[in-house]
Amino acid sequence: MEIFNGRAATEEYMSTHSLTFSTPEMTLKKFALWLGDQVNVPGKNETVPRLLTYINDVNNQSNNSDFLPDTDESFKPSGAVTDMFKDLAQVKSPTNCHNCNYPLKTASKFCPKCGSKQQ
Ligand SMILES: [Zn+2]
Repeated sequence: MEIFNGRAATEEYMSTHSLTFSTPEMTLKKFALWLGDQVNVPGKNETVPRLLTYINDVNNQSNNSDFLPDTDESFKPSGAVTDMFKDLAQVKSPTNCHNCNYPLKTASKFCPKCGSKQQ
């Protein structure tokens, strides 16, 4: 049986394209067009749609789950944006004044409400 390894294709696409400035519509269109690009077959003097380079023969493979599409809808940064979101995750969450509990901006040194000094 031959299957399309969509996981490998999406991971390859996301690791070689920044999706930062794309809308979901643009990303979908560009990914579909990217899959349809004519690419050279290694060692042969011919081109095929890129999609065909992700067709795997799984007859002799026991672990089919490696090729199942990832249907988890939760957002996990990957590829070119991984580092960017790693930084965002490390930004300190907003804090409150330890004296009056007024919400403070990150890195505030004084509370704008009660004026007490923040750590
Ligand atoms: Zn305060």
